[in-house]
Amino acid sequence: MAPPPWSSAPSRLLPNLSLNSKQTVAAAAAASSSPAGGQGRRPLRYAVLGAGFAGLSVAWYLLKVILLLPSSSSLPFVVSSSLIQFRHEYEFSVTAAKLLWRGAEFWKESMDLLRSAEEANGTAGSDTTSQDDNLIWRRGIVRPPTSEKAADILLENAQSCLESCSLQVLDSGAAQRLIPGLCVPFDFAVYMPLALNINPKKYLQALFSACQNLADEAYSLSSEQKELKLYKQHVGNLHQLAGDYDSVIICLGAKARSLPELANKLPLRTCRGVITEFQLPSDTVEEYGNQSPSILSDAWMAFQGPRTVSIGSTWQWKSENYSSTVSDEEALTAKDELLPKASGVYPGISKWDFVHARAGIRAMPPLTTNGSLPLLGCLDEMVGKKSNCNFWLVGGLGARGLLYHGLVGKLTAKAAISCDENVIPSEFTSWKMIKPSQ
Ligand SMILES: Cc1cc2nc3c(=O)[nH]c(=O)nc-3n(C[C@H](O)[C@H](O)[C@H](O)COP(=O)(O)OP(=O)(O)OC[C@H]3O[C@@H](n4cnc5c(N)ncnc54)[C@H](O)[C@@H]3O)c2cc1C
Repeated sequence: MAPPPWSSAPSRLLPNLSLNSKQTVAAAAAASSSPAGGQGRRPLRYAVLGAGFAGLSVAWYLLKVILLLPSSSSLPFVVSSSLIQFRHEYEFSVTAAKLLWRGAEFWKESMDLLRSAEEANGTAGSDTTSQDDNLIWRRGIVRPPTSEKAADILLENAQSCLESCSLQVLDSGAAQRLIPGLCVPFDFAVYMPLALNINPKKYLQALFSACQNLADEAYSLSSEQKELKLYKQHVGNLHQLAGDYDSVIICLGAKARSLPELANKLPLRTCRGVITEFQLPSDTVEEYGNQSPSILSDAWMAFQGPRTVSIGSTWQWKSENYSSTVSDEEALTAKDELLPKASGVYPGISKWDFVHARAGIRAMPPLTTNGSLPLLGCLDEMVGKKSNCNFWLVGGLGARGLLYHGLVGKLTAKAAISCDENVIPSEFTSWKMIKPSQ
C-alpha cells in the first residue's frame, strides 16, 4: 500500500526548519491512529522535540499506547528513520540511597526502559560483552559516608529502603572485601547491589532502536498507518509546528528555555557539570576489581572496567555554557575539586592518570515539599494556542534524568493521547504557579 504524501516528505512534517551548525536533534514520533469511523480524516500526529532521555521515553510510550489502540484498516503504515546523533557522553547512575517521592514507581519505569533498550541492543542479561561495549554496568554502588550527618541519613534511609531496590549496611571489613583499598571513615558503608551505571550514548541509541522495533511491531499487528521518524534538525520556535501536529511534546532539556514562546516562563535554573575520566597507567599491575562496585561519595566514581573510571561531577550554577568541550583551565579546576573528594574514600586514585573531561548543563527544577520534581504538563496557555495543536512539556529532569525519564515519559504520552492533563499527578504540574526566576 502506498504511503500517504506526508510520510515521504519530512519538510511537510517539520516545515521551514533549518539545520543549524550545532546539529541539535529533534525526534519526531509521528504516530497515527484512525479516529473512530475515521475514513477521510488524517491520522493523528505527535511530534516529540528532543532525543534525550525524556524525548525517547515519551516516543517509546506513545508507540506503546498506540500499539494498544484498536486498529483500523483504512490507513497505511510506514516506518522510517534518519541519522541519529546524541550528545550525551557522561556516565549516569541510578542509585536509591535516598527514598524519593514515588521512588518505587520511578525505579520500576526506568528499569523497564533500560531492559527494553538492552533487548533491542541484543545484550539483555548478557555478561559476555567487553566492558567497553557495555550499555549498562551492573556492578552495584558502595557509599561510605564522609560526615556524621551523612552517616545518620544513610542509616535511616537503609532502614526505610524499597523492597525492589535494597540497601545493605556493611561493616568496614565487608566493604573493603568488595572494594580493596576503600577508606571507610565511619566504619560502615551502604551497599546498593542493584544500582547501576549506564553509557548514555549507547543507551539512547538502543532506546531509539527499541522505539523502531515497537513501530515495526505495530505495523505487523495491524494494517493501520503508524510511523516513527527521526529528524536531525534544530527547532527554532513552536508555532511553525502547530499546523502539522495534534500534539507537540517539548523535551529539550535546559534548551527549552531558548524557545521564544517559553523564554523567561519556565522556573528552571541551569547548572553546568564537568566529568573527568582517568585511566591506570599501562605499567601499573594492580587493577580495579572486575566485580567491584562503583563508589558514591562527595564525588562519584563510575568504574567501567579494571583500568577506566569516570569521576564526577562539578556544580556550576547559573552557567550558560552549553558546550560539551572543556577547556584546559576548566578541566584543571574540576580535577582540583573532584580528586580530593575521590581520594578521601579511594586513596588509590592518585595512581590513575587524567585522560579527558566532558561537560553538560542540567536543567534544575525548583525544590518542592516532594523534592525537586520534573516539570510536566500542558503548555497551551503559556504558548498562546493558535491552532488545534496541544503543547506539552517534559523538562527539569535535573540531576536525576535516568531515574525520572521512564515515569515522566509514560505519564506525558498518556496525557497527550487522551488530551487530558489530569492524567498527570498535580505535583508535577504545580510548577505553573511558581514565578520563574529571570
Ligand atoms: C555533568 C552531568 C552529570 C549528570 N549525571 C547524572 C547522573 O549520574 N544520573 C542521572 O540520572 N542524571 C545525571 N545528569 C542529568 C541528566 O543528564 C539529565 O537529567 C538528562 O539528560 C535530561 O534529559 P532530557 O531529555 O530532559 O534533556 P537533554 O538530555 O538535554 O536532551 C535534550 C535533547 O534535545 C535536543 N535539543 C535541544 N534544543 C533543541 C532544538 N532547539 N532543536 C532540536 N533539538 C534540540 C538536544 O540536542 C538533546 O538531544 C547529569 C547531567 C550532567 C550535566
